[in-house]
Amino acid sequence: MKAIAVHPESKQVGLVDLEIPLLLSRTGVKIRILEVGVCGTDKEICSFEYSFPPPAGSDFLVLGHESLGEVVEVGPDVTSVQPGDLAVAMVRRPCQIPTCGACVSAHQDFCSTGSYVERGIKQMHGFMTGFVVEEEKYVCKIPAHLRDVGVLTEPLTVAEKALMQIDSVQSRLPWRLGSRNALVLGAGPVGILGAMALEVRGYHTYVYSREPETDPRAGLCSSMGVTYVSSSATNVQQLADHIGSIDVVYEATGYPPLSFEVLLYLAPNAIFVFT
Ligand SMILES: [Zn+2]
Ligand SMILES: [Zn+2]
Repeated sequence: MKAIAVHPESKQVGLVDLEIPLLLSRTGVKIRILEVGVCGTDKEICSFEYSFPPPAGSDFLVLGHESLGEVVEVGPDVTSVQPGDLAVAMVRRPCQIPTCGACVSAHQDFCSTGSYVERGIKQMHGFMTGFVVEEEKYVCKIPAHLRDVGVLTEPLTVAEKALMQIDSVQSRLPWRLGSRNALVLGAGPVGILGAMALEVRGYHTYVYSREPETDPRAGLCSSMGVTYVSSSATNVQQLADHIGSIDVVYEATGYPPLSFEVLLYLAPNAIFVFT
């Protein structure tokens, strides 16, 4: 089967041939890849701005970490998915360092050693290929009616993790929180997904980004009940006056000067999330 891979040594991106992987464990899941998203991380890998050594025994890395696939075969002990199900495989795998409490407790997203591996990013082949085999514990079943948007599951986890952290930090406050305002910086995919997740949780959500208010992204925001504010027409001070209490900021621009400017306007007990 074909795969799309980067060759760090020769700094090339191209097709490679791989054997179709076999189900080797009783808890293995074989997935036929349907879609793979491409994000800024892929662009960075392909521009060789940074690169990690390829997986052991290989001189290339198969790309792709935002996937959606269909389960085609499962080992005899698998219970959470079955052939025909839609599935998304997780990206990060724990480091093998026994003193890493995060990885030992299956929270490799908090790995403190940096020795984790990531499919399609760091020392483990990704999903831009025909079939992959994955252990059941790293496979998430996706409801069939989410076929059109299931490939956004992985980028959505950025927002979902942020919201889990917000909830856990705020739960330390020994009183009930009333109505809350959330400000999303940046209207890229991670920003828009974050705005959706915040709106669903009941925040009064604002998106602040460069695009003019006639941009389709602004229309997408208003269609979900999110207020879009263009930085080309409104400065941060005016934005803060308009919102009132900025209780949560979800930063999705990767542009630090804007973050530090917005920090000045945070409400007391507010939370600023750097994605
Ligand atoms: Zn990505
Ligand atoms: Zn770790």
